[in-house]
Amino acid sequence: MCGGDKTAGVSPTVVSLTPAVFHLPAAVSRVAQTYGAHPIVPRGPRFAPLLARVRAGIVSALGAEGYEAILLTGTGSTAMAAVIGSCLTPQERLLVVRNGAYGDRILEFAQRIGQPVVDMSLPYGERPDLAAIEQLFKANAVDAVAAVYGGTSTCTLNPIAEIGQLAKSYGKKFLVDGVSSLFVEPMEFEAWGISAVMGSCNKGLHSHPNLTMCLVKQSLLAEMETIAPRAPSLELGKLHKAQVQGSHPYTIDPMSILMVEAALGVLAEEGGVVGRNRIYLARAEKLRAGYERLGLRIARWPGSPLASIGTALYLPAGKSYAQLATTLAETEIDGHVFEIYSAQGKLSDTVFRIFHMGEYKLEVYDVFLKALEHALR
Ligand SMILES: *Cc1c(COP(=O)(O)O)cnc(C)c1O
Repeated sequence: MCGGDKTAGVSPTVVSLTPAVFHLPAAVSRVAQTYGAHPIVPRGPRFAPLLARVRAGIVSALGAEGYEAILLTGTGSTAMAAVIGSCLTPQERLLVVRNGAYGDRILEFAQRIGQPVVDMSLPYGERPDLAAIEQLFKANAVDAVAAVYGGTSTCTLNPIAEIGQLAKSYGKKFLVDGVSSLFVEPMEFEAWGISAVMGSCNKGLHSHPNLTMCLVKQSLLAEMETIAPRAPSLELGKLHKAQVQGSHPYTIDPMSILMVEAALGVLAEEGGVVGRNRIYLARAEKLRAGYERLGLRIARWPGSPLASIGTALYLPAGKSYAQLATTLAETEIDGHVFEIYSAQGKLSDTVFRIFHMGEYKLEVYDVFLKALEHALR
């Protein structure tokens, strides 16, 4: 845990209010300090048991029985490419439901590999129209659907349970971008009709960003025997086969896998996904009340609940994002400085974002509200 332990004359604690790089649990950081003395060789005897423990640990932490966790070198976008490039036949028509920057990325990746797509493009944050989706399923105009659960550009949640139930009843594959929601927002894989999830290790799991993961339903993995993969080195069927045998066909960093194991341990101590969700909600509650007290307006869209990882806020009149970010990053308040996040794409002129991910004490956010008040003056 970070914050509070300041001595005069020492440089301030930098608190990251961004969603990708933030303070990690001490148990995760400790791996980096001790690994050099005891490295694990990818083909050595200690690798296979580690890989097996971590793959099983991920499935168990997520309550994703019936799914297989597959680890990859890379980030969330790597997992997106792996799922899109491995789970569909070249003929399958993919409905891309997009209302944010990562839905845009799903479309970009699908088009890059020549996947036939039906593009349901909505204004950022707008709740997808379930009747319109059902119409496409009913007319058999698509074979699969992809959507983002936690919309990181708007800090809202999409109706994944509802879309998934439709996908399930019409027999459509359902690919979910869970990069910013896995391990933080409770998910019900089977009940929500999910076929595969694009994940990450560095967001809700609080590990390093050089390893990522996908979760694939076992029945889809069986079907992959007949699907020619189109994303070289990201072939989920091939990777899965190697990983159940305790190996990986390409370089994968054992230190990062040890960090994921440590991160899973910390998650379990916090009470699993539900416990971590509670920690994030307590931060959200404190911060959102503070934003309103300071006269900031939270970006909301009807029917789209706020995500638990952060908040999108309208820029106050007369303030630019750059001004606000620089003041927060350069002005020390009670031993802390803060780094916030601009909005993405279409929203960047009107909205900015404050995330509350990572290993910080709840009191740190009181200091942040003080800093924000100062920066807004
Ligand atoms: C962060 C994020 C990604 C992509 O992750 P990278 O680390 O940029 O590769 C994909 N989808 C969502 C919803 C995200 O929040």
